[in-house]
Amino acid sequence: MGHLAHGITRTGIDRPAPRAQRRATAPAHRPVNLLLLFDSDFTAPDQVVLRGRRLEHVRDVHRAAAGDRLTVGVEGGRIGSGEILHLDRDSISLRIALDRDPPPPLPLTLVLALPRPKVLNRVIAGAASMGVKRIVLINAWRVEKSYWSTPRLAPDNLRLQSILGLEQARDTTLPSIELRRLFRPFVEQELPAIAAGTRALVAHPAGGMECPRAITGPATLVIGPEGGFIDAEIASLARAGFASISLGPRILRVETAVAALLARLF
Ligand code: SAM
Repeated sequence: MGHLAHGITRTGIDRPAPRAQRRATAPAHRPVNLLLLFDSDFTAPDQVVLRGRRLEHVRDVHRAAAGDRLTVGVEGGRIGSGEILHLDRDSISLRIALDRDPPPPLPLTLVLALPRPKVLNRVIAGAASMGVKRIVLINAWRVEKSYWSTPRLAPDNLRLQSILGLEQARDTTLPSIELRRLFRPFVEQELPAIAAGTRALVAHPAGGMECPRAITGPATLVIGPEGGFIDAEIASLARAGFASISLGPRILRVETAVAALLARLF
């Protein structure tokens, strides 16, 4: 069994195309390590038919053929392998055998000041790939109003970014993503209930305690906008029971901060 550069295994086929050739023909999305399957893909209990992005991906990026095996997972369910029964320009059919569970989720709710549209996709896919299962996107003083009108906040895009994150990480459970456009009512009326029974933390470079390492138990983590939280917001979060934590004097981009904080906390 050969291993492709991007981790999907296959048997009995020629080597991947040279890098330059792959770059020229690959679709915009990055290679995936798992094909995520949905109920609507199944044509029999152990068979699926795929079209669109996943077909293009298998055909043009993995350059797979009938008889190859790909790693697959069912949304919200188990992982296994899919043998390609048939592949042409229009569709691919696979026979599925599921034999293992996905990795455990992070016991974390991520509350994130809405980042700029360009960053949003990366943050959602990155958080999903790290195992976050609940994300709440909130407003803050330094979130630009225009960010709330980006088409990237459309449910279809948030779902696609989540799927890309899961496919990257070989996971199957989509995160829930909620939007809250009013900071104060959210922090005062909703956040305390979300954080109840969890370790409540707000990442804030200026002060607070050093970010704890390898905590046990669930957490609720709030991350600020690119300009940071203003003092009044940190004070509101403190009244809601959130302790400020810092990763030190380096000010990290939001997507870097999310990865660094999650890696440190869990
Ligand atoms: N100038 C802003 C400030 O000082 O708060 C920088 C904001 S930073 C680009 C965006 C968010 O990432 C911050 O609000 C915080 O939640 C998180 N972050 C970035 N660097 C951090 C650090 N060193 N420690 C803790 N959180 C950090």
